[in-house]
Amino acid sequence: MNGGARPGLDLSVIRDEVLAVNAYAVPDSTGLTKLDAMENPFALPADVARALGEQLGKVPLNRYPPADPRAFKELLARVIDLPAGMALLLGNGSDELIHLVIQACARPGACVLSPWPSFEMYDLSSRFDGCRFVGVPLAEDFSLPREALLAAIAAHRPAVVFISWPNNPTGNLFDRATVEAVLAAAPGVVVLDEAYLPFAQDTWLPQLARWPKLLVLRTLSKMGLAGIRLGYLCGDPAWIAEFNKLRPPYNVNVLTLAAAGFMLERRALLDEQAALLRAERGRLLGRLRSLPGVTAFDSAANFVLFRVAGGSPAADRVFARLKARGILIKNRAHVHPLLAGCLRVTVGQPSENDAFLAALAASL
Ligand SMILES: *Cc1c(COP(=O)(O)O)cnc(C)c1O
Repeated sequence: MNGGARPGLDLSVIRDEVLAVNAYAVPDSTGLTKLDAMENPFALPADVARALGEQLGKVPLNRYPPADPRAFKELLARVIDLPAGMALLLGNGSDELIHLVIQACARPGACVLSPWPSFEMYDLSSRFDGCRFVGVPLAEDFSLPREALLAAIAAHRPAVVFISWPNNPTGNLFDRATVEAVLAAAPGVVVLDEAYLPFAQDTWLPQLARWPKLLVLRTLSKMGLAGIRLGYLCGDPAWIAEFNKLRPPYNVNVLTLAAAGFMLERRALLDEQAALLRAERGRLLGRLRSLPGVTAFDSAANFVLFRVAGGSPAADRVFARLKARGILIKNRAHVHPLLAGCLRVTVGQPSENDAFLAALAASL
């Protein structure tokens, strides 16, 4: 564990689950066209950026954030049309909320379950909280395997089920009736992760009243505000009150609250950008499908998963050649057998997508 380090330095107090994993890797993207992390590619217009700067200049940085930012939460509830009687919990990105939900449910021996492959943090956070993580393999076409999923829920009795809606990294929405069967069968909470809502335009939020164990998780990251780190969890106030006990006080800082409030008042700008990206997604899919040896999968998100002929060695080669041509995407070929030969590209600005397509045609 401590190969060749300083004498007397002994890391054996660190838990095995922590020692066993590598830190979440963020590759260096200096000088590259960044199409790897589902970021919105548009900078703020200059006048909006200036007005934001003025607003942020008025924020009292010497004060702690409000214990309960009521005005901001009321604005957010109104903007998202939060169903009556439901509550909100704010997080430092939805990553933090994933962690809080698991932490709250991590009784000894507790299990967390998700269709798989899906968002890596479900697995990582579970392990860090000492929970067993069960990934139920998706069907070959990335749909939910209804019988296997229900059988796994019956066998493992998961405290938490995560369903990414649409699924990262495959991009598809699942069958609603199958998700309802999960909601009916699950013994614990079921988190529908709607990180890609602006691109999917499909939500479970109105279903909160019908399903007491449903929680809807969202983030401002993919809609254009990844840098400020703000996620929110919606659900029955009884659940939210318990998760809130584990929330570090002041987890959402004053600049984030001010910037998010400012942008929510100007959400038409973000909506326009999302519409443009949805159109670009269609164009990107069409062009990918015209390339020989490329299979591109339908997407309800701001990324497209595609498979190259020749399997994972070919995907590695294409990934490296794209990078040499200045384009950074995400290689998903080695994360799960279902994703053999698969790469994931974020939908960028039209010029970035053109640069990617040209580089890809030259890299196959
Ligand atoms: C990107 C992503 C998140 C993380 O969002 P943050 O709010 O930036 O932490 C959560 N869930 C899924 C499925 C994602 O793809």
